[in-house]
Amino acid sequence: MLNIVLFGPPGAGKGTQSQKLIEDYGLTHISTGDLFRKHLGEGTELGKKAQAFMDEGRLVPDQLVIDMVDDKLQEENNANGIIFDGFPRTIPQAEALDELLNKKSTPIKGMIALSVPDDELISRLLERGKTSGRADDQNREKIATRLQVYQTETLPVANYYEAQGRYESVDGVGGIDTIYERIKQAIEQLER
Ligand code: ADP
Repeated sequence: MLNIVLFGPPGAGKGTQSQKLIEDYGLTHISTGDLFRKHLGEGTELGKKAQAFMDEGRLVPDQLVIDMVDDKLQEENNANGIIFDGFPRTIPQAEALDELLNKKSTPIKGMIALSVPDDELISRLLERGKTSGRADDQNREKIATRLQVYQTETLPVANYYEAQGRYESVDGVGGIDTIYERIKQAIEQLER
C-alpha cells in the first residue's frame, strides 16, 4: 500500500505529477484544493465557508480541512494507496492525517517534496491563470500571499516528515517526464 504526500509550493506541478502516479500505480488522488473547488462549484455550506480564504490565497481553517479529508477517507478503500496533494499544509493537519490513517492501519509511507524557485512558480501560476479560470492564479498579489503562506505555515510540514525519516526531495524544474522519473526514484527510496 503506497500512501504518499506529494508536497510543494503552489505551481510546483503536484497536480500534473499526481495524474501520472495515479495511472502508473493505480492510486487514488485526494487533492484538498480540488475538493474545495468542487464544494465551491456546488455551493455547499463547506464551500461557502472556504471561499473567502481561498479567494485571498489564505489557508482554510484546519478543522474544516481535516473533517473534509476524514469524510473522504471513510468512503475510500483503494488497496493500492492514496496520493495526498495539497494536504497536509500545516502541522496540525499532518498530525491529524497520521491519526486518521493509524486508525485504518495504513500509514503514510513518506513525503515527496517538489522544489521549484519562486520566480519559476510565479510565471507558471500566471500562465495557468490564463486558462484555469482560477481567480487565485490571475493576480500577482494573491500569488505572493500564497507563496508567503507556504513559507511560514506549510514548509514546517516538510520537517515533520524529514525528522521521521519519511522524506525525499525532488528537483521540480525540467520536463514533465524527467521530473516524473525523479519522483519514481524517490518512491523507490521511500519503499526501502
Ligand atoms: P495551490 O495551487 O495554491 O497549491 P490548491 O488547489 O492546492 O492550490 O488550493 C487552493 C486553495 O484552497 C488554497 O489557497 C487554500 O485556500 C485552500 N486549501 C487547499 N488545501 C488546503 C489545506 N490543506 N489547508 C488549508 N487550505 C487549503
